[in-house]
Amino acid sequence: MNLYLGLVHYPIRSKDNKVITTSVTNLDIHDISRSSKTYGVKEFHLITPLKIQQEMVQKIIGHWGEDVASDYNPDRVEALSVARVSDSINSSIARIQEKEGHRPLVVVTGAGFNEGIDAGRLKITCEEAQKSCLLLFGTGWGMDESAIKMADFCLKKIAGNEKNQYNHLSVRAAVAIYLDRIIS
Ligand code: SAM
Repeated sequence: MNLYLGLVHYPIRSKDNKVITTSVTNLDIHDISRSSKTYGVKEFHLITPLKIQQEMVQKIIGHWGEDVASDYNPDRVEALSVARVSDSINSSIARIQEKEGHRPLVVVTGAGFNEGIDAGRLKITCEEAQKSCLLLFGTGWGMDESAIKMADFCLKKIAGNEKNQYNHLSVRAAVAIYLDRIIS
């Protein structure tokens, strides 16, 4: 399966329901890169339109591409080799289209998505359609409707223990759980 991940920092909903750009966090770069590499994700896109944030991410990725980093922690270097900066969801789609020769299926995630396809069926859905997949995750209070509307599918939420009605995972945990359900 040709799977790509995108962590969306714009357009995002804020606590007071405005459209905002969130900051990239170091923890997300490292942890999601490790999960991506472990499950064979082709690229992990950190999606932000802010030049200063793009430069910061590029600097971190660049540092872990240097020889000194390879000697110090080769596992981390390997993980970060899948990470790259993207300035928008559309740029990510365009890049994948260029690499794969077709527009990927765009799939969005959210803790409140009751409807959608099961993670366990995503692989077969992509294989049947002979398409790559760009799987998008939110930050802040989740992706804005304008991003959700761009998607071909929603993935059904990770319900957790439905008895306690709480399922607000960190994005890093959500990525790892979905990857295991999709790939395994
Ligand atoms: N500040 C938070 C953090 O540190 O991770 C970010 C919250 S952000 C809204 C969490 C993202 O992870 C969501 O947009 C969604 O992509 C995913 N997510 C979290 N819980 C989820 C769930 N139960 N089911 C599906 N996706 C979930």
